[in-house]
Amino acid sequence: MMIKRQSKEWPDARGYFGRFGGQFIPEVLRPALNELHHAYLMFKDDPQFQSELLAELSDYAGRPTPLYFARNLTSHYGRAKIYLKREDLAHTGAHKINNTIGQILLAKRMGKKRIIAETGAGQHGVATATVAAKYGLQCCIYMGEEDMARQQPNVMRMKMLGAEVRAVHTGTKTLKDATNEALRDWLTNVKTTHYIIGSVVGPHPFPMMVRDFQSIIGKEVLEQIRSKQISLPDYLVACVGGGSNAMGLFYPFLPYENVKLIGVEAEGLGLSSGQHAASLTAGRPGIFHGMLTYLLQDENGQIRLPYSISAGLDYPGVGAEHSFLMESKRASYHSVTDRQALWAAYVLTRLEGIIPALESAHALAYLEELMPRTTEQQTVVVNLSGRGDKDMDTYIRHLNDFEQVLKTIRIGNTL
Ligand SMILES: *Cc1c(COP(=O)(O)O)cnc(C)c1O
Repeated sequence: MMIKRQSKEWPDARGYFGRFGGQFIPEVLRPALNELHHAYLMFKDDPQFQSELLAELSDYAGRPTPLYFARNLTSHYGRAKIYLKREDLAHTGAHKINNTIGQILLAKRMGKKRIIAETGAGQHGVATATVAAKYGLQCCIYMGEEDMARQQPNVMRMKMLGAEVRAVHTGTKTLKDATNEALRDWLTNVKTTHYIIGSVVGPHPFPMMVRDFQSIIGKEVLEQIRSKQISLPDYLVACVGGGSNAMGLFYPFLPYENVKLIGVEAEGLGLSSGQHAASLTAGRPGIFHGMLTYLLQDENGQIRLPYSISAGLDYPGVGAEHSFLMESKRASYHSVTDRQALWAAYVLTRLEGIIPALESAHALAYLEELMPRTTEQQTVVVNLSGRGDKDMDTYIRHLNDFEQVLKTIRIGNTL
């Protein structure tokens, strides 16, 4: 049964989702954000811009990505039907390309000559360097020194693509410091430069813009699910770092209140260990990266370093719209540990022959909790946000711990 409610459109004119979001930035950046907002609103509904965007998403990025019925995983749990949205099959191996294509087309129309971005795991850096190469714009990626050491293959990819990777030596030498450096660069070079933020975070209009570019995921799922003669899915499940793959899947379904939206954060070594990246589950509202949202912070309101086995979920905040969806109870948020995510990745690989990104494995891990509550008549869609090639070192290092139990699962399933 389809119940579609006409709900209020967020953000409001000042960039707020309820009480979250906004523009907490140095005054000198305001003209740049206004220019970007203006350009975005103009091109968003421009048929020529839209048709160019759709053509690039189709022929360059490989969209639509399949909605795959995971038959073996479904019979493993013996409950609701499980479908995987295969963002791992998009060009560069994850959903991030949807956003970087959209933003670089916008930057071109705004007459910008140079692109900057910050990156932690390097995935957003690679997606940005990719489109900069394709569209012939100069590209500079800020990356913490610590992260550069941990993510060598992605640093090499960015260099191969012609981007300059600028090491950030300040603070903790990780993503939060790279973010500060990128903002500083933008301040200085705002006339020629566009700053491509990689998730539904940052000051308005970024959270709205990135959400809109990523919502192609949810729009395709709506169409694909209908073509499979299922009226609507019962559950949508996605991992949440900054929250862009989740927001992209959720957004077109927001008016369908029967569809339950579930975001899964990284619980790392456990909430009580303090070593996690669960901003919504275990954080408090505060200001970071130009927005008001849930953050990991200490007693003094200082940003706490996040931890996760998955570098892409290692962000101390979360998109403002997720904070809003949580408080308004439209979506619910949960967390799974490193070990639960690893287990889920091995299970998917052995049952379906798909090696997921460690980030996506967090969404899969939540199925352990969700599936026993579902029925055979129901449908669950999991966003497989990326592929696992980049995580092979980690997977192989831990495989021995799981191999014995994994064997029993495969036998149990085929008997
Ligand atoms: C970057 C990344 C994420 C986390 O980012 P979101 O903005 O939360 O989507 C998740 N999965 C993959 C594969 C990524 O590369």
